[in-house]
Amino acid sequence: MSAMIERAGGAAVRIPAAKILIDGDWHDSADGRMIAVYDPATEEKIAEIVAASATDVDRAVQAAHRTFESSAWQNMRPLDRGHLLEKLALLIERDADDLARLETLDNGKPFAVSRNVDMKFAIDALRYYGGWSSKMAGEYIQLSPIADDGGTYRAYTERKPVGVVGGITPWNFPLGQAIQKMAPAIAFGCTVVLKPSEEASLTTLRLGELVLEAGFPEGTVNIVTGYGHEAGQALVDHPLVRKIAFTGSTATGQKILAASAQTMKRVTLELGGKSPAIVLADADLNLAIPGAANAIFPNSGQVCTAGSRLLIDASIYHEVVQGVTEIARDLKLGSGFDPSVQLGPLVSSRQLERVSALVAQGIDEGAEPLCGGGRAADTGYFYQPTVLSGGRGGMRIAQEEVFGPVVLAMAIQDPQDIKSLANDTAFGLGASIWTQDINKAHLLAAQLDCGTVWINTHNVLDLAMPFGGTKLSGLGREFGTEVIHAYTEPRAVCMRLETTAFG
Ligand code: NDP
Repeated sequence: MSAMIERAGGAAVRIPAAKILIDGDWHDSADGRMIAVYDPATEEKIAEIVAASATDVDRAVQAAHRTFESSAWQNMRPLDRGHLLEKLALLIERDADDLARLETLDNGKPFAVSRNVDMKFAIDALRYYGGWSSKMAGEYIQLSPIADDGGTYRAYTERKPVGVVGGITPWNFPLGQAIQKMAPAIAFGCTVVLKPSEEASLTTLRLGELVLEAGFPEGTVNIVTGYGHEAGQALVDHPLVRKIAFTGSTATGQKILAASAQTMKRVTLELGGKSPAIVLADADLNLAIPGAANAIFPNSGQVCTAGSRLLIDASIYHEVVQGVTEIARDLKLGSGFDPSVQLGPLVSSRQLERVSALVAQGIDEGAEPLCGGGRAADTGYFYQPTVLSGGRGGMRIAQEEVFGPVVLAMAIQDPQDIKSLANDTAFGLGASIWTQDINKAHLLAAQLDCGTVWINTHNVLDLAMPFGGTKLSGLGREFGTEVIHAYTEPRAVCMRLETTAFG
């Protein structure tokens, strides 16, 4: 049962039913409570989702646990788990236009971005992790025993799936994030309960429909929608959940880490950032100026690695700031269904208020707005692309994640200060360096306290490259070979061999 919504340009968007997915079937919540869903571009109510309670979450976790313990799942060939992910990739490819429209309706981002970035990432991630399913391997270890008992000792390790994974995801890349948690869990033999953000759950519900169509065994992938403090918290507190894979704010990540101590859950936390784009005096400005703009404005700045601090050598400060401002002024805002639009709205009125308040305080603290600085329309949660000049490290906007299309430019007076300026926040997610001097690029990269450094580019994420942050930007890594450690535990098996067996 699902409804259709019409949008300008004749786009008909199918809304998934307001249910939760438990043990291979769609269910209502135990107490019938619902959450209204709004189109961020029009502020119209477009749907409802279930507000799952702790009781619903418990049912989902119990189902995931039963399936995890079942011999059918334990004995499924790794290649066959990979094949399930491949089947899902094919279904998402088939439905990519529909899914992209739904993402645009729910999150606001332009359709071309939903289709060419979010859906492409989702499909790639399923294939990438599908390939990993058959590549789990342990080690064979020769031991040096203390006791001389005439035996020879050997050990091997195997990697065991952690168990039930709770995947708690945000609203900025909703489907991609859900798959980023679910695909490695399935590839490595875990089962999963997903809890998408209440701000953008619709494509994760459609994912559930496709999981059933692909023939995933019942209980391997469960989806509960609802409030973070209720459904999310219930997942974090549940003793049968062995790992939480979370992307979102640092404040929520800290709560999750503290709560996880009770049951000693494994956690990966991909949290906020305040990433600098650093433009050195010798940078090629034909690359650096559009590069710096592209580091902050896509997805309306709602990107954890966004280059929200622009550190520029004083000798080229005005030229760079002017260039980025011109690009910002030219960006077209509007409905994500209008093909000429480059930036959609922010996801929610709450996000609009947060961005507005941080910018207003930045201006009060002395930052100069060169463009933007306010709401862009009376209807819809649109915020103007904003360039603030004259930033200083002590300003709140230089320290807190804005998660909006807002960049704070700061001049580098002395190259010796770059390291301290760049590292001067509680975050450590990403940074970019713009220079034509390969020596400077690599020597500076080594000084930056963060998870990813880009050189002459920004925001390039690749499934083969480990991703995560230092300091308050998180714990652990996703992507690449590192992800194996996030979803599996090593188990050592030690054996004594009789040395005399062959003389
Ligand atoms: P949250 O961290 O609160 O939300 C992320 C996810 O966590 C959502 O699914 C949310 O559910 C859930 N959640 C919230 N509280 C709990 C809890 N106690 N236990 C378990 N899960 C919980 O981010 P917000 O949506 O509040 O956004 C605030 C700020 O966070 C943004 O302005 C931005 O700075 C940052 N952020 C960073 C992201 C990143 O990619 N690193 C992504 C999103 C936000 P629900 O939404 O239903 O409350």
